[in-house]
Amino acid sequence: MNVIQDISEMHNLASQLRQEGRAIGFVPTMGALHQGHLSLMDHAKNECDVVIVSIFVNPAQFGPKEDLNQYPRDMEGDAEKTISAGVDFLFTPATSEIYPEGFRTYVSVEGLSHTLCGITRPDHFRGVATVVLKLLNIVKPHKAFFGQKDFQQTVIIKRMVKDLNVNMDIVVLPTVREADGLAMSSRNQYLMNSDRKAAAVIYRSLCQANRLFENGVKGADKLRETIFRVIKEEPSVQTEYVAIIHPESLEEETDAGKGTVIAIAARIGNTRLIDNIIL
Ligand code: AMP
Repeated sequence: MNVIQDISEMHNLASQLRQEGRAIGFVPTMGALHQGHLSLMDHAKNECDVVIVSIFVNPAQFGPKEDLNQYPRDMEGDAEKTISAGVDFLFTPATSEIYPEGFRTYVSVEGLSHTLCGITRPDHFRGVATVVLKLLNIVKPHKAFFGQKDFQQTVIIKRMVKDLNVNMDIVVLPTVREADGLAMSSRNQYLMNSDRKAAAVIYRSLCQANRLFENGVKGADKLRETIFRVIKEEPSVQTEYVAIIHPESLEEETDAGKGTVIAIAARIGNTRLIDNIIL
């Protein structure tokens, strides 16, 4: 596997691969890789000729009081994992190259970026959309792979790609979970013993709502009530929002139907976790 840091080198390589008619699969990440990331790489490998993974902890998507400096970093371990996963190229650009002096252009996906997670993280999705578009321009993939775990992110990226005529496919893959159901996340490392155990209540509450839905309960209020009741079983878990939403507009629904998404954000101590299910 080759590690590429230089943006112009990545540009040239991508152009060359395209000229050779090779299908490029791309998995953008912030590193501290886990099985969730690896499943995206696996799918990319199955669907494309060449797999490129990026690791870039993107300052533009962290708020001033957020965990940019504490965010877990493990470049050596990540490189080993990508080798085992059969990744062809690891792209690790420097922050100063992605955001050189004088940088001024940001992508804002109106409406979708300031709801749900965007309420407490007002500039987060502007940072995400900007860096993802930059990476897509540099890596020039035929397909890019994202996890359903970050549901709002997938909706925003799909919208951006459509609106800005980025000629490629966005593939969204299911959330990979720990044995107790907790969605894998690089931030799970922040959780110590009892908090880690308590965190499983988030997915438990989603499953409980899903069961109710399958038994015929459609009212969003009823489903939301159930989720709050289950989450209360763990007093250390503070719910930020429980949203029952349309999968494209992200607007709240009064009655859930097939395809409706239930999304949750919660805090345990200083750790913010998100999860969702598609009914
Ligand atoms: P991150 O490194 O957290 O920015 O995530 C990089 C990509 O991996 C994003 O598309 C995430 O949605 C995806 N991802 C993160 N956690 C999971 C998971 N548990 N299952 C599937 N995909 C995930």
